[in-house]
Amino acid sequence: MKEIYCKLLIIGAGPGGYVCAIRAGQLGIDTVIVEQARSGGTCLNVGCIPSKALIHAGDEFYKVRQMAAGRTSLGIRLQQPSLDLGETMAWKNGIVGRLNNGIAALLQKAKVKMLEGTAQFRDGKTVLVETETGAQIVRAENIVIATGSAPVELPDLPFGENVLSSAEVFSLNEVPESMAIVGGGYIGLELGTAFAKMGSRVTIVEATPQILPQYDADLVKPVAKRLGELDITVLTNAVARRYDATASALVVSERDGKDITLVADKVLVTVGRRPRTEGFGLEELGLDMAGRFIRIDERCRTSMRGVFAIGDITGEPMLAHRASAQGEMVADIIAGEKRMWDKRCIPTVCFTDPEIVSAGISSAEARAQGIDVAVGQFPFSASGRAMTMGDEAGFVRVVSRVDNHLILGIQAVGAGVSELSSTFSLAIEMGARLEDVAGTIHAHPTRGEAFQEASFKALGHGLHG
Ligand code: FAD
Ligand code: NAD
Repeated sequence: MKEIYCKLLIIGAGPGGYVCAIRAGQLGIDTVIVEQARSGGTCLNVGCIPSKALIHAGDEFYKVRQMAAGRTSLGIRLQQPSLDLGETMAWKNGIVGRLNNGIAALLQKAKVKMLEGTAQFRDGKTVLVETETGAQIVRAENIVIATGSAPVELPDLPFGENVLSSAEVFSLNEVPESMAIVGGGYIGLELGTAFAKMGSRVTIVEATPQILPQYDADLVKPVAKRLGELDITVLTNAVARRYDATASALVVSERDGKDITLVADKVLVTVGRRPRTEGFGLEELGLDMAGRFIRIDERCRTSMRGVFAIGDITGEPMLAHRASAQGEMVADIIAGEKRMWDKRCIPTVCFTDPEIVSAGISSAEARAQGIDVAVGQFPFSASGRAMTMGDEAGFVRVVSRVDNHLILGIQAVGAGVSELSSTFSLAIEMGARLEDVAGTIHAHPTRGEAFQEASFKALGHGLHG
């Protein structure tokens, strides 16, 4: 059996693992990365990138369908448009392929050795990798576990045939006539909206009283309104029970105990993700766990010396940019730098229609911490840019301390606000005060002006409203 020795072995080439590998390679660390599927992990192959491609396709198709139906004030006329989902998926696959190749090239440039196969722990320094050309032992001074997460499967609604996880949905070649989505969280709402725009009759089944329960009701309201305009049925306080394949129907229990059946050609189950901790000998290491996740400290160290963990396997929020930031930091630490996790915020973006962004804390969270807050909110209905884009839904809200005007949180809902998320994070990370944002010239006409206006409003003197 072949053996390799290296300073750093990374298991999993998702946005956590591959970023860690590139940075380690740049730092001159002798690095090996093992991936059992395709580079880029969940994010690139069946997550962030394919979902945003379908959301974009849905947006474009919906727009032209509205124009063809005469539902536009722009004076544009169209004949009946159609959508070939097979072609859309081929376009999406092309993007994924380009990015897969890009990662391989970056790893090569950083002189990282890539092993294709499944890694199996022998002990805290040794891993066995089953590759196509046979088994290989890798011995490493340091190991980074970056094995990510997988979709949660409901016992009474197993994946298969017409019951899809978020991985299988990206292989559909035809737009289902009807689609039931179990779980009204991130994935359910992003993809439910995309499929409705592509022509599916979509029903969302959410167990809690509100869709997107992780966001406050004011942020969710414009999204809920748009779901109604798209004829998406939303059932809250409703739990999916089972799928009746012969009747193509999903059985759902409502809060009053009544069962209803929903006709659904496809059922997409999006009820969260679980860390990938099983099947590769991790249990043998006996690492301390934090619930289902691997417990880590502020340097992403696990309870075993020389073993680090990053990304979804380490807990919430399960987001690609958190995984990458951890990966970049861990490479520096292994190179001997004194780094620790000291981020003030991890922005979240929900790519619904309209989009939702949150950076830092909400006013309710601040008040719960005993902080007196001043809140400024500016609606897009007063934004010239929003008017010229034909979408005035939503607002930007700034939460700051009353005593020194330090910005604690920024939330927004509106078309295209995902692009404001970096500005929001930068402001919080740099310790901006309301005066810093109010005193920064924001180009006109842009949606970003709403951030400046919300800051003026929190200071008590809004200029445009
Ligand atoms: P992963 O990306 O899951 O990568 C882990 C890798 O490890 C995989 O490639 C896997 O094959 C490999 N692996 C596992 N075990 C082994 C083993 N034993 N040997 C070898 N290889 C192994 N996040 C965002 O920030 N923005 C978004 O817009 C967004 N959209 C999403 C949409 C969908 C539909 C989904 C499902 C997720 C989305 N996410 C989004 C979440 C994001 O994809 C994850 O947070 C991110 O991929 C986590 O990165 P990771 O490196 O921890 O793990
Ligand atoms: P989620 O946690 O966002 O939503 C799951 C939803 O399912 C919850 O609202 C929950 O109440 C509901 N639910 C649970 N069991 C149910 C049942 N039996 N019947 C009906 N509803 C039920 O999970 P997700 O949408 O699967 O996404 C997983 C993770 O992936 C997210 O938490 C996020 O970290 C990541 N993600 C991020 C983005 C983004 O950043 N834009 C996009 C997609 C996914």
